[in-house]
Amino acid sequence: MSASILVVEDEPGIQELLKFNLGHHGHDVTVAADAEEATARMRESLPDLILLDWMLPGASGIELARKIRADPRLKDVPIIMLTARGDERDKVLGLETGADDYITKPFSPRELMARIKAVLRRRAPQMTEDTVVIAGLKLDPLAHRVYGGDQALDLGPTEFRLLHFLMTHSERVYSRSQLLDQVWGDHVFVEERTVDVHIRRLRSALEPTEHDRLIQTVRGAGYRLSSNLA
Ligand code: CA
Repeated sequence: MSASILVVEDEPGIQELLKFNLGHHGHDVTVAADAEEATARMRESLPDLILLDWMLPGASGIELARKIRADPRLKDVPIIMLTARGDERDKVLGLETGADDYITKPFSPRELMARIKAVLRRRAPQMTEDTVVIAGLKLDPLAHRVYGGDQALDLGPTEFRLLHFLMTHSERVYSRSQLLDQVWGDHVFVEERTVDVHIRRLRSALEPTEHDRLIQTVRGAGYRLSSNLA
């Protein structure tokens, strides 16, 4: 499981440690030293997960977490708070602010990796390697294969990611801009009509077993994967 992770931490030693350990586990790491820099990085591309230090120069981690949860584009990005505080009241405050989990320094890399995996599984199921099946359409992330019934279907890498996201978030409508953020991880440098192109390719890849019908266009809103064909 490889995710893009934004580390918001001002202490160079811990920055380096996190960068090394996360990179070693195949994650793509971006580092920001304060809330302002973190906001700029998130404007460029949407991370899969944020590791957020509580004590930052300027705006605190808690303030940044509140801002993230109040921002329609960022609100669903999972947050793990990092802190030197072990106080139970702080833990409650962190979780109430919208953090998904909480880890107290000093922590072992093994513990951190386990927490990251658990949070991603919970909040971003398309990041995990669990097989998904909807209406006879099966996607196996580990083998990187898609089947309609027993028939193997041939998908390009972007169509695969797009289908994985839609299958793990079925019955909900996503706008082109949301799909760009979620599937391309980048909102700024790709045009929205790119989404339409890949939706078209995805549909024709699913056509042999008629699973293209699962990919629905919702006029004026975007796209949805639904097993309800009525
Ligand atoms: Ca700090």
